[in-house]
Amino acid sequence: MSTRGLAILGSTGSIGTTALRVVDRHRNRFHVAALTAFSNGTRLAEQAARYAPSFVGLVGDGDVCGPGWTTGEGCLIEAATRPDVDIVLNAVVGAAGMGATIAALEAGKRVALANKESLVMGGALVIEAARLGGGELLPVDSEHSAILQCIAGRPMSEVRRLVLTASGGPFREWSSSRLASASLADALQHPTWRMGRKITIDSATLANKALEVIEAHYLFGVPYDRIDVVVHPQSIVHSFVEFVDGSVLAQLGVPSMELPILYALTWPDRVGDIGVPSFDPVAQSPLSFEPVRHADFPCLQLGVQAGRRGGAAPAVFNAANEQAVALFLDGTIRFADIPRAIESALSHHAAAPAGDRGAILAADASARRHVQELFQC
Ligand code: NAD
Ligand code: MG
Repeated sequence: MSTRGLAILGSTGSIGTTALRVVDRHRNRFHVAALTAFSNGTRLAEQAARYAPSFVGLVGDGDVCGPGWTTGEGCLIEAATRPDVDIVLNAVVGAAGMGATIAALEAGKRVALANKESLVMGGALVIEAARLGGGELLPVDSEHSAILQCIAGRPMSEVRRLVLTASGGPFREWSSSRLASASLADALQHPTWRMGRKITIDSATLANKALEVIEAHYLFGVPYDRIDVVVHPQSIVHSFVEFVDGSVLAQLGVPSMELPILYALTWPDRVGDIGVPSFDPVAQSPLSFEPVRHADFPCLQLGVQAGRRGGAAPAVFNAANEQAVALFLDGTIRFADIPRAIESALSHHAAAPAGDRGAILAADASARRHVQELFQC
């Protein structure tokens, strides 16, 4: 059996390194054809030595740059469209990932998408690229992988509702007054998942769940009023699908990104693997569910409203959030400033046009500028 070529964009990050662990167990199915990273040249060089890809790309100024590597922003699209690449795992964080998602789909590749920001910014363009180029879009996000597994090929006309689960993040039980003084260190303590810093903050504000509602809307073509969110602190039920006859299916498992990554690579097949520990319902008991505290975590509703509004609004939501999270991570703003920044950017820029990629990138840039100016930095 010939092996399928993988491009791993963002190979030095949390999802990228987890994906390489998955590939290690399935070298009879996959080989690494391309790797890219932003600046961690040392780790990228170690990966390049181990997997011998035909292409290595470094987007930013790395600490090390190996011989024969391609550098600069263009390397993401180059890696994603190479003839020896069958599957592109897009594990870049943030808006920087959108161009490669679209280019890979236009080139007819399978895209295993961790970079949800691609779909939030340019949902219609991404779906259109897949249609025109014949590419396949498969979710890596655990909630969307769960939904895909529950739907299991049934027509979408049989699906009544999607219910995404959310861990609730580190501040699930914090009072509103305590939340006002939440520190960066507090926000980086995710209770159930170890992830990159940006998505960890997004999980603490619940902006991540807003990105995921928009992601689900585009991936599965389900209207917003049929996508709900429930807090599930144990992160064992990865999401629910309710069907038109009232039956509800869920996908369960100990939190691990290895299974959703492998499923996105092998879908519709399931292949033998040991990435997730065996499930013990008694050990995982009890499983609990709670409503979202919307008043204390306004980012979720701000994002869903932006999704419903459509046009440039989701791109503005995404960009304002990214900029605000960057400012929070570098200590410039407080936790409660993140939703404030998003709301302000949306009220000024959400009506921008979004007909093509240029318009979306312009809306993204104005939202980022807006947030910078709001805090005068
Ligand atoms: P991370 O910060 O650990 O890794 C990000 C990777 O992207 C790194 O390899 C980095 O070099 C690269 N990168 C960063 N900025 C870049 C840029 N401007 N251009 C090109 N490459 C760049 O992030 P992560 O936690 O692995 O998350 C990656 C994506 O996967 C995000 O969109 C996140 O929302 C999504 N995701 C992550 C998890 C998880 O468990 N970590 C789960 C679900 C979805
Ligand atoms: Mg998720």
